[in-house]
Amino acid sequence: MNQDIACHASERLAREQICEAGRMLYDLGLVAATDGNLSVRLAPDRFLCTPGSISKGFMAPRDLVIVDAAGNKVSGTRNPTSEILTHLAAYEERADIIAVVHAHPPVATALTIAGVTLTAPVVPEVIMGLMAIPTAGYATPGSSEGANVVRPWIGRYDALLLDRHGAVTVGMDPIDAAMKMDKVEHTAKIVHAALTLGKVQRLDPDAVTKLVAFYDGHHARPFGQYPFPEP
Ligand SMILES: [Zn+2]
Repeated sequence: MNQDIACHASERLAREQICEAGRMLYDLGLVAATDGNLSVRLAPDRFLCTPGSISKGFMAPRDLVIVDAAGNKVSGTRNPTSEILTHLAAYEERADIIAVVHAHPPVATALTIAGVTLTAPVVPEVIMGLMAIPTAGYATPGSSEGANVVRPWIGRYDALLLDRHGAVTVGMDPIDAAMKMDKVEHTAKIVHAALTLGKVQRLDPDAVTKLVAFYDGHHARPFGQYPFPEP
């Protein structure tokens, strides 16, 4: 087993955490009906994921499915999520992460439909925790295209929007990734409210420099400077 690939320590706990994170996403209104999917890396070639056609707010640990690194089902009575290839692409790009969440946060998704991005440095806590939230290109939901649009971004960012199709977040466990999804939607609400009031004012460059230094001091992979240049 490759020791450099981060994996969850307990399949039993991972099953419970996916169900708990699913309830959290559902209660927050970030996954409607049977939308969204969650996964955990159990081993370099084993991934626990949510099945399709089930509400993420009402899952039991036994509902979850285990797949291999190609997305083929290894065990479970249901079929794996149709977005499993997007999750696997994230794990391939990030040896350091253990969980992936995909949800449909409504305000964040609306911003991508309106052509508004979350890449400007406007909310200090976003820079401190996520650096920035880029927008990946459009892909047909449930297709292999999702993996292609996520790959260029997920290597550097823990949270990104998918054009017209929600967002993807990664973390050290499902709760961590779900909280980042909550943060994405919260940020989208703030930016939307600011736009409604008139304009989105960027942070002062000196303030951005300090926030980037904070990020770099708390993350294994430093950015060194804010990644999106001022226009
Ligand atoms: Zn989706």
